[in-house]
Amino acid sequence: MKRHSVLLKEELCEGCTNCVKNCPTRAIRVHHGKATIKGELCIDCAECIRTCAYHAKYSKTDSFADLEDYAYPIVLIPPSFYSQFRKISPLEIRNYMFKLGFREVLDVALAAEALSIKTARFLEKNPGVFISSSCPVVVRLVRLLYPELTEHLLPFKPPVDVMAEKARRDAIARGISPEEIGIFFITPCPAKYTNIFSPVGFEKSDVDKAISVDKAYQAILELRRETNPVESEPIDEQNGLPYLGMGWGQSGGELRIMPESMQERSLSVSGIHRVKALLDEISRNNIKGIKYFELAACNYGCVGGVFNVVNPFQARFNLRRLQVRGHRPVKQDYSQYNYELPGKFEALRIGQLDSDLEKAMAKFMQLEKEIELLPGLDCAACGAPDCKTLAEDIVNGLASRSDCIFLLRKQVGELADKMSALAHELPPVMKKEKKDR
Ligand code: SF4
Ligand code: SF4
Repeated sequence: MKRHSVLLKEELCEGCTNCVKNCPTRAIRVHHGKATIKGELCIDCAECIRTCAYHAKYSKTDSFADLEDYAYPIVLIPPSFYSQFRKISPLEIRNYMFKLGFREVLDVALAAEALSIKTARFLEKNPGVFISSSCPVVVRLVRLLYPELTEHLLPFKPPVDVMAEKARRDAIARGISPEEIGIFFITPCPAKYTNIFSPVGFEKSDVDKAISVDKAYQAILELRRETNPVESEPIDEQNGLPYLGMGWGQSGGELRIMPESMQERSLSVSGIHRVKALLDEISRNNIKGIKYFELAACNYGCVGGVFNVVNPFQARFNLRRLQVRGHRPVKQDYSQYNYELPGKFEALRIGQLDSDLEKAMAKFMQLEKEIELLPGLDCAACGAPDCKTLAEDIVNGLASRSDCIFLLRKQVGELADKMSALAHELPPVMKKEKKDR
């Protein structure tokens, strides 16, 4: 089974079905009072972590102890990480990262800025509609539920992988042995962690480990308590800080770097359920005049990731404040990055009723019948998200009609009527013969 970073603590699950109803890919079922996740349908969007009041869903990442495995650990900081701090500046944060043991501290914002420019040029040259491929949840969602839209995914790696590839290449060029290099990423969400061991669109990620934002945040606060605030490096007037790409930390940031002529033909949408609603409309050909869709699974983009510490509203404010402070953007050569994917994104074909056409047809007929029988209330009391999914589970032998409380009640009622009728029946020896008059 595919490995995931969104996991379940069964002992905490109360079987309430909240996660079942909110999972965008219908990957969760509740049976015998406990939730289970269908690995092949899970896209690690973390919506179930957000909606479980019992904290039965969780995610685990690597830790700072993993730095010991590498003689030359490098950390990649995403723009959204800076948004978690109101009083600690990006330069101070970078200094704390060195104190925590990293030999290099690099900003993903640099590769993000370069990717926006590359994307704008690509869109100018290529006809058709495109969907950003930077959010791994969006890429997985499209491949799984909208296979017909897979060819519209932008054929580039996400900024973190672009940055990681460059970081490794540069370190090796400086004479550091490849085995000594360990590339760490401070991740705002489980999906970016999953991308390390299960990347989409390429074989192997250049990122070796990911530490969640909350762990990195705590480590910095502890270090700050133990030591006096670290002196910030003076801002290098020549190089500044990567404020241009910092906008990528929130929805809309990718577009803002593009030329206005492209911004006018693009749309940003965030939040998994809104993204899904939009993809439904694109799929039905109901959206006109838009060339590029910047989509993020979390509300407001990466500032809404589940590993973040501050709420997305404060994080957006903090990030915007950093951007308007007016530091000069870093001057960089965009050709130093390798954005290209080795192949194309491929659609996933999961959920077919059967690989054998004849059996699939028979199952399809049965499915229609089951849907007809079920009440169509989509109450989720059966442990499946809706009646159609329960019908599919019944056809596939994974559930039974009696899982539906309404069908069960009907069956019990019919049984009670039969029993009552039987109770009035007398054995033949006791029956009196009817005499003709
Ligand atoms: S939300 Fe899901 S995981 Fe959490 S208690 Fe309810 S059924 Fe269990
Ligand atoms: S992480 Fe998302 S796709 Fe996976 S089970 Fe949870 S809600 Fe469903």
